[in-house]
Amino acid sequence: MTTSKPVTFRQIFMGRLACGCDLLDELTRECAARNVTLGRIEALGAVQKARVGFYNQQSRTYQHVSLDRPMEIANLVGNVSLKDGKPFVHAHVTLVDEQGQCHGGHLAPGTIVFACEFVLEAFDGPAFERKPDAETGLPLWSAAKKPD
Ligand code: ZN
Repeated sequence: MTTSKPVTFRQIFMGRLACGCDLLDELTRECAARNVTLGRIEALGAVQKARVGFYNQQSRTYQHVSLDRPMEIANLVGNVSLKDGKPFVHAHVTLVDEQGQCHGGHLAPGTIVFACEFVLEAFDGPAFERKPDAETGLPLWSAAKKPD
């Protein structure tokens, strides 16, 4: 069943991340520093190396791939919500190597920034809290109540 809840636009933050920082950790830290618990992120730039995940639907575990080489961030798209009461960034990346080959997946810790420009959109609205989902084994947004 599809569920959704209305949110409203609050503010946009634009910035860049420092060379050498962990991409996911730093985006999460920026959300906490800006008090963003609901929002959307996009970014581009380059990484020194990357670690991305693929969710194995059979075993219900993330398999991680380490890509130990410089690549372009062709695209990063993500959202911000709450997990365990704290801002949680869920992002997927498309990375391009020197041959123009694409790699990508679920952004994991261990992806190190070379240069990165981001746009963070903050929303106001009801809490989107991640809870264990029995059907998928993933921490998903708890279902919204249907309007009366
Ligand atoms: Zn994911």
